[in-house]
Amino acid sequence: MFWLYLFLFILGLQLGSFINAFNYRLQTGESVWRGRSHCPHCQHVLSWRDLIPVLGFLFLKGRCRYCHRPISKRYPLVEMAAGFLLVIIWVFTASISWAIFYSIVFLALLAIADYDLQHYLISDKVLLFCLIIALAFLTFTGIQQGNLFNWPNSPLWLGLLAGALASIFLGLIHCLTRGQGMGFGDVKLAFILGLIVGWPAVILALFLSFFIGAIIGLGLVILKKKKMKDALPFGPFLVIGALITALWGSQIINWYLFLISK
Ligand SMILES: [Zn+2]
Repeated sequence: MFWLYLFLFILGLQLGSFINAFNYRLQTGESVWRGRSHCPHCQHVLSWRDLIPVLGFLFLKGRCRYCHRPISKRYPLVEMAAGFLLVIIWVFTASISWAIFYSIVFLALLAIADYDLQHYLISDKVLLFCLIIALAFLTFTGIQQGNLFNWPNSPLWLGLLAGALASIFLGLIHCLTRGQGMGFGDVKLAFILGLIVGWPAVILALFLSFFIGAIIGLGLVILKKKKMKDALPFGPFLVIGALITALWGSQIINWYLFLISK
């Protein structure tokens, strides 16, 4: 098992490095598939040594080899996050097909969260990718279980119900706050997250998102990193809420039911 997890961690680091390049090129409008990676300051093409995830950053002590200007700490952090993400998904997901599904879709959501943190924007391209993967996987699971259209057991119906209700809920907040508290990107993202975690788990996912968002928001105000009126992107919290729900949702719900039954 150790070697499997080590392999997944290294694979995750490499995919995290791809997420960094993808998000950078999404912003500049360069092609994701063509052209070599280069330093954003001096435009020097980077060698394979500079592009080794995390280690490249450490060897260079966080500075470009050519112009010595600092490299964003976000790059190694996203790589580490992708590495740990793959490992925890495979440790805590019993079914191999679900583990593969979660790996693909949560790596894409990591890209969304990272981009949202930087630019307060959620890319429709990545959302569409997640939508197609989720619909295909839920259809596949429904066919495999022989309940593709059987209400209320069909994973596809439960996913669509959860997605629709989550979108309506965030859509209401979006309208009531006139887009100040919640962007329309969050409304679309909520639909995807509903598809992934299903009904009724989506309630827990939304609760966790607001709860973690409030704690981190408050923490940043106390540490004077942010002011009360500053906006925080909500996408990353939605993704974290959905991830916790996907991996530990049933344990959390059982624990809660146990608490209130006493
Ligand atoms: Zn440079």
